[in-house]
Amino acid sequence: MADNPKSTGVPRRFGTHSMNDVIVIGGGPAGSTAATLLARRGLSVLLLERDRFPRFQIGESLLPYNNDLFDRLGLSEKLQAGDFFPKYGAEFVTGDGTIGYTFRFDQNLAEQYHRSFQVKRSEFDHLLLRNAAQSGVEVREETSVTAVQLDDPNRAVIETSTGERLEARFVIDASGHGALIGNRIGGKSNVESLKKVAFFAHYRNVPRPPGRDAGNTLIVVLRDAWFWMIPITEELMSVGLVVDREHVKSCGMSPEELLARTIAETPYVANRMNAAERVTQVYARKDFSYAMERMVGRNFALIGDAAGFIDPIFSTGVFIAMKSADLAAAAVEQRLRSGSMRFLRNYERSVKGALHKYFRFISNFYRREFLEVFMQPRPKFGLVPVIVGVLAGNVFAERGDRLKLDLFFALVAVQKHLGLIAPRIEWERLPAAASV
Ligand SMILES: Cc1cc2nc3c(=O)[nH]c(=O)nc-3n(C[C@H](O)[C@H](O)[C@H](O)COP(=O)(O)OP(=O)(O)OC[C@H]3O[C@@H](n4cnc5c(N)ncnc54)[C@H](O)[C@@H]3O)c2cc1C
Repeated sequence: MADNPKSTGVPRRFGTHSMNDVIVIGGGPAGSTAATLLARRGLSVLLLERDRFPRFQIGESLLPYNNDLFDRLGLSEKLQAGDFFPKYGAEFVTGDGTIGYTFRFDQNLAEQYHRSFQVKRSEFDHLLLRNAAQSGVEVREETSVTAVQLDDPNRAVIETSTGERLEARFVIDASGHGALIGNRIGGKSNVESLKKVAFFAHYRNVPRPPGRDAGNTLIVVLRDAWFWMIPITEELMSVGLVVDREHVKSCGMSPEELLARTIAETPYVANRMNAAERVTQVYARKDFSYAMERMVGRNFALIGDAAGFIDPIFSTGVFIAMKSADLAAAAVEQRLRSGSMRFLRNYERSVKGALHKYFRFISNFYRREFLEVFMQPRPKFGLVPVIVGVLAGNVFAERGDRLKLDLFFALVAVQKHLGLIAPRIEWERLPAAASV
């Protein structure tokens, strides 16, 4: 009920007409969500988006723990009715197809989290942005923020590409990996161990497994790289290759060639894609793993990718973007009502905690012993529901399954030194990213 403006006791539009309560920079999932929730709490919100929607964006696989927020935003039925593909789990398999495991949400989680969605981001983001406008947010597309002044702790001054100077009591940076305010205040650090490049495109004619598994995300593990295959509509499969930046520099191939040749040289992927037709350009993204030291100030908060992002392997980006927006909206309202910074500091702590949990998982994902235990989980240790919980987005809970996760990492350590927990993967025999 916190999203009902009447229940908060905050008068509608308690800023002046010339000064908005909040300006949100960016209309991706983070910005739209924060703006919607703040407007529903009775604040005047202006959202400035650089592009005109629908626009292409990467990040097509969602997580079940987002479902609660979809309900509160009134989006669940629209997602079910729209052209989005139901996702019931995720499969991880080696590139030669010899070892693999499917983690199923519907066998391990409460019913509310049995299903998520694979989405075309252009349509998903547009749905969220329209929802923001319908909730009372003033949305201006094709308006880029060019400068932000934060010197006065009780207001923020924004300059735009349209030559306007706008004021608000508070500004939320949801500008994605461009991290407008974060870059200005400093403290952005790239995660050195995760210097990767992703090449990706959409394809037709890629068969799927029967039944519910048709909607699973498929992650294919290579010796030095990995693929994602995400069925985003009945017709389209998103296929991406994530490789070390050093490999891209030294392999001497164009993105198109590297992607096509690595597909052809990876038996498990090649078999699925022998009749595939690429229907988009090959896109590239690099240096996408980074963290922000500082996420809040008296007149600003960073949310979504603008606050940090770590590696796409577990499809966490949109969930963290929207969850951080949800937490930030509550904290910003409290900051404007009471003047206290306590809620914003709690917000920062929660987001850093969630990113840390994923970082622990993701940085280990690139280690052989981790994959040996992860892809061959033994039922007797009771770890599958815990792993599925992490894959589904259960990382904001205070205690969660911390002890079981600690057990999981203890087993990985035993595997590293003694190899007793799971059969070894013959690493040297796995396919690798193509090179000339
Ligand atoms: C290779 C790769 C694969 C990924 N796969 C997944 C996945 O499968 N699942 C998943 O959940 N996540 C995935 N992600 C992450 C996902 O893309 C992001 O986490 C998510 O888009 C973050 O949402 P956001 O709203 O914070 O930022 P964005 O979606 O980037 O939105 C930011 C918005 O701000 C606007 N903007 C930027 N600068 C300005 C400005 N100066 N003024 C006004 N507007 C501005 C932009 O136009 C944009 O619309 C992946 C990321 C990468 C790199």
